[in-house]
Amino acid sequence: MDKDIEYRFLTHAGFRKFISCLIDGFVVYGTIKKDGFPAFGPITDSKDLVLARTPTHLSAKEFFFPQREALLEFDMASGSHSPIVESRDQVVIGAHPCDLAGLGLMDRVFSTGSTDVNYLARRERTLIIGADCMPDDYCFCESLGTETIDKGFDLFLTEIKSGLLVSIGSEKGEAILSKYTKPLPPKDVHLRESAKALEKKKRSFKARLSAPKEELPGIYAKSDAHPVWEKIGAICYGCGSCNNVCPTCYCFDVKDEVTPDLSGGERVRVWDGCTLEEFAKVAGDHNFRRSRADRLRHRFNRKFRYLSDKFNSLFCVGCGRCSRTCLVKINITEVTNELIRDARTEDEYLGVPAAARKG
Ligand code: SF4
Ligand code: SF4
Repeated sequence: MDKDIEYRFLTHAGFRKFISCLIDGFVVYGTIKKDGFPAFGPITDSKDLVLARTPTHLSAKEFFFPQREALLEFDMASGSHSPIVESRDQVVIGAHPCDLAGLGLMDRVFSTGSTDVNYLARRERTLIIGADCMPDDYCFCESLGTETIDKGFDLFLTEIKSGLLVSIGSEKGEAILSKYTKPLPPKDVHLRESAKALEKKKRSFKARLSAPKEELPGIYAKSDAHPVWEKIGAICYGCGSCNNVCPTCYCFDVKDEVTPDLSGGERVRVWDGCTLEEFAKVAGDHNFRRSRADRLRHRFNRKFRYLSDKFNSLFCVGCGRCSRTCLVKINITEVTNELIRDARTEDEYLGVPAAARKG
């Protein structure tokens, strides 16, 4: 247990009552079962909420950075325009530690340089209630140190036998918990149960990176000519699904949508993805990442190398969503482990496997 965090205890019934009170006062989103799988969705009844153990298909980023949003509206006749900043008081329940780590990275992106008022307005007005999880075959957050988290939430839930252990992450979280419930101080048995759940989680990871995270930027820097890029580029569909599901992919396109009578319109932004063919296309039909191999190498390098120069942090949180979603089973853990293996077995890695060079 983290000695710097304060904990409370809620019974299952007390927790359901808390959720009902939140529904009365806020727009609430949380984890639900959709077609048998965990997903985020609107919660209008406390029974809708199913605290998901394994990751949702899409991450929680859509509540702060929607797939499509209007940024401003314009009027052609007057030549005027006005910004659109939409936000409301909302609660997001059930984000796992990796999702919270991803949001922390998005916060840095959208508040560095010219700040993004739309994103930050939503962040400001959202109460985040995280929840603990168990890894599936694709989760490798433990290799990146994001399997637990001690900040980036208002409240954090760990389900134990007799109820829920609630970690207090902010004054806002504590105030709302006390307003709507009568949380109890946790007993030793609750803390022990929670610690046991965490130990079980740590033992359950099947996917792991075979090098410490600090070595990954260097390993990627040596791997530009590695044959794995051509290998996975040959089977990739260039569909962009891996970008869409990723909690740390934040690239977007901006378009003007004009009304049919040309009197005005909206400037909108929509998610974009570096694995899509159009992403790097510029005037004159030039495309500086025409091949799928180049685009995948770019994406992986963004996660493990390029952005660490700018933000001093890796931009992958190990949620495994890109691997889980990919129709042709391109797996980020396996690809990275292949690079690690070859970077370690080469004296001076030049992109040609040792066996081939010796031959
Ligand atoms: S890696 Fe997989 S999910 Fe990503 S673009 Fe290629 S086929 Fe689509
Ligand atoms: S790159 Fe893949 S594993 Fe890493 S955060 Fe994005 S979706 Fe998750």
